[in-house]
Amino acid sequence: MSDKGILIVLSGPSGVGKGTVRKAVFSRPDAKFEYSISMTTRKPREGEVDGVDYFFKSKEEFEKLIEEGKLLEYAQYVGNYYGTPVDYVKETLEAGKDVFLEIEVQGAKQVRDKFPDGLFIFLMPPSLDELRNRIVGRGTESVDLIHNRMEAARKEIELTSMYDYIVVNDDVERAVDKINAIVQAEHCRSERVIDKYIEMLEVK
Ligand code: 5GP
Repeated sequence: MSDKGILIVLSGPSGVGKGTVRKAVFSRPDAKFEYSISMTTRKPREGEVDGVDYFFKSKEEFEKLIEEGKLLEYAQYVGNYYGTPVDYVKETLEAGKDVFLEIEVQGAKQVRDKFPDGLFIFLMPPSLDELRNRIVGRGTESVDLIHNRMEAARKEIELTSMYDYIVVNDDVERAVDKINAIVQAEHCRSERVIDKYIEMLEVK
């Protein structure tokens, strides 16, 4: 029996540092995950590269992808579409590799319905004040957008009960250690591996 990978979903409010934590996860030499690059209609921020940070799409292109069923999930977030390409995720999991998604809560809910055995981790800010400081400090958003992102953050934090784990991002390296420990433990969870050992007993 070939082992399938685990679908790991990391969510958390905008500004909590998901991108930083995700990059730190992938910069560890022993990182074994594959990152699924999302599609978005948001304009690239300075320094962002098409095909690395996101696949940047027009609204028309994105709506065509929805129609063609090419997205595992999608959501509108602060006026833009964001979505996960379904083929990449399925093929990578089938190949036995863990796939890492960094998505917001509405999308995570859709993934939960389609992949109930996914691993759902919520990255929590130490406090809402700290979250606002981080969004303001990033300097990429207008005052209105900061307000909208704080409102979205409050709604996201209210929905954390659907997640399996909550990791506070008080320190990036500590958060990465916790995420790695969670994934390692999930690979040993009996319901994920029991079939393999039952098969082992059946082989004479
Ligand atoms: P940002 O504009 O700051 O890059 O992302 C805004 C929000 O969209 C973040 O919470 C980010 O995690 C989320 N996001 C990024 N890619 C996807 C995706 O493919 N699907 C969904 N549902 N959310 C995404």
